Parts: sequence; C-alpha cells; structure tokens
Amino acid sequence: MTLSGTALVRKRERVQPRAVDLLAWYDRHRRTLPWRAKPGEAPDPYRVWLSEIMLQQTTVRAVGPYYARFLERFPSIEQLAAAGLRDVLKLWAGLGYYARARNLHACAKAIVEQHRGTFPRTIAELTALPGLGPYTAAAIAAIAFDAHATPVDGNVERVVTRLFACEEELPAAKPAIRQLAEGLTPEARTGDFAQALMDLGATICTPKKPACALCPWNAACAAFRRGDAESFPRKAAKPEGELRRGAAFVVVRADGYVLTRVRPDNGLLGAMTEVPTTAWTPEFDGRRARDEAPLPATWRRLPGVVRHTFTHFPLELTVYRAEVPPGTAAPEGTRFLPLSEVAGEAFPNLMRKVLASAGIDPRPTDPPGRSPQRGRTHR
Ligand code: SF4
Repeated sequence: MTLSGTALVRKRERVQPRAVDLLAWYDRHRRTLPWRAKPGEAPDPYRVWLSEIMLQQTTVRAVGPYYARFLERFPSIEQLAAAGLRDVLKLWAGLGYYARARNLHACAKAIVEQHRGTFPRTIAELTALPGLGPYTAAAIAAIAFDAHATPVDGNVERVVTRLFACEEELPAAKPAIRQLAEGLTPEARTGDFAQALMDLGATICTPKKPACALCPWNAACAAFRRGDAESFPRKAAKPEGELRRGAAFVVVRADGYVLTRVRPDNGLLGAMTEVPTTAWTPEFDGRRARDEAPLPATWRRLPGVVRHTFTHFPLELTVYRAEVPPGTAAPEGTRFLPLSEVAGEAFPNLMRKVLASAGIDPRPTDPPGRSPQRGRTHR
C-alpha cells in the first residue's frame, strides 16, 4: 500500500501522536551531547553546524573525538575559514566521505566572506551554502534558531514509518514521510522537537528490538499495535555497483619514508593522500599491474587483497610493496612522506588499510562505533 492521498489523511486522523508527549519525554531523557545546548542555554550555530556535518553517515560515538579535536583547533568559524584545506583534511581523516570536509571548509569561508561570520537563519540562505542540503539546513534552522523546520534523517524516517505503518518503500516514500513528519512538528520548541525525534530514534526506536514499552508514542504507533515494528521502514533492494579492482604500490625508503601522492581536488576522495595506484576498473588485469608501478624496484605482491566498499561500488586492491635505498628521488607528482608523519596525514580509510597490509602502522584509523550504514541513520 502506498500511504498517500486520502488513505494517508484517514490514517493520520485515526492515529495522531502528540508533540507534547514527545517533548515531555525529551525533557526527562534528553541525551547530553558535546554540541547540544543545555536546558536554558542558547545553541551555538557553529557547533550545531559542525556536529551536523560530522554526524552524516556516522555515529555519535565515532564523531565525539573528531568533534573535540576540531573545536580545539578551530574554536570559531573564522579560524576554520582561515585554515588550509590540508589541515582540515588531516583532522578529518578517518571519518570518511571526504567531500564533506571540503564542503565544510568552503562553507566556513562563505559564511565569513558573505555573512560576516554569522550563520544565516533562513532555509533558503542556508541551502545556498556549500555542503548544506535540505536536511542539514533544516536541522540548523530548527536546532540553532528554533525556526519552523523539520529535519528528516534516517532515524526520523524509521520512527515515522513505524508510527504510521508506511508500506511504501524507501526511497520513493520520502515525500510521504516528510509530509507526515512535518505534520507532527509543533509551532513552538521546534529545535527541541527535532532533537527529541533524533533521540527517540537513537535510543528507543532503534533499528533492531525497539524499546516500545518505554516509548512516549506507543499508544499511537501503528507498527507497535501490529507487532511488526522492526520490519519498518520498507526498503527497495539496492542494486550493488560493479566490483572494481586495481593495484596499490607501497614504496618504503630505507631511511624512513613512504611514497605518496595527493588525489585530484575533485571527485572520489578528492585532495586526500594516497600511495600510488593503478586505475580502479572492473576490467583490471592483475598480470599487467607491475607495468604501472611508480618506479623500478623489486616488487613483492602481498597475499590477499584489500577490500573497501564505497557508496556506489565495491573495490579490491592488490598491494605491492618494495624497499628502495635511502635518498631515492620521488617520481614526478609524488613525494616521500616520513613514516613518523603517516598517522597524522590525510589518508582515507582505504589507504590506511593498504598501509596496514604492507606493515606500516597507519593509526589513527576508523574510530569505534563507525556506522556501516548508508544514509543519515546516525546518532
Ligand atoms: S512504539 Fe515502538 S515502533 Fe512505535 S515509535 Fe515507539 S519505539 Fe518506535
């Protein structure tokens, strides 16, 4: 059944969760989060924005240390805007989805240059900034400015589809879910309501085994009454991208360096650091991999492959390692990085896996709690 039109309206008339019940629950059970204003405090738009960007596709637990380091290094938007992109990427390394870090930096610059360092308040102005889509703009508008906006992320989708037992599959159901979520949003305390929905999804209405007995909306929840809450939201099967393969070349110089290069600014893992690799293609021919090695050396193919899954395709890299004499010059477009600087370099997680497979300690790596899920199912 597609929950739309009159069916949707009838269902809403029959089952109407009240914002006041959720807000009362929030007042008692709200989570304490580093970026969240305490009761009675005014929210800081910079902190709200920073946390919202970091939390996309990532969990609260994973974001915590990154958020603390960012805030320590860039306590204000002016300081973030004045920083170099490489410094921002280095602090971001390990959080994944690196376009977010580039947009974060571009957004800070735009706010300083176009808005004198003050966050705009309207959804239209916010969505005009780099990296701010409808969700983030609505979250900032609601949480930082108490504007009448309804941020709908994966948690909210889950809660809403269960409340109304939406049978329509995601992603087609998104407009209907948005409509339902907006219908729940009160006129006042919109920021608290948005955060209450996020907290409910993160702590009570969880993907598996939701704690419906503790839910302030259980009397109004259609899925709870039916006893099949876990089966929501319905999701269309996701077509998997075609497997791509390639080779990565780890060159260790005997005086304590590893050969690296920087990826182009735009595109996948843009501006991040990597070891030289072949192209990544479905047609990759492993027998010819060594022809593309960055320099002549005695190459050793390491056992196994490094696997990584990007949003739109899985990847397998065969890793080759070579040792070269001290002082060996780096080929054009590459540079030798001291091994002591590997941990702080802007290597994406894929490259940290490659380095680890070649016996180089690449920490810090993925923080614990990183969500394997796609989409905004964080918190
Ligand atoms: S009753 Fe259960 S399924 Fe329904 S909204 Fe609450 S936690 Fe989610």
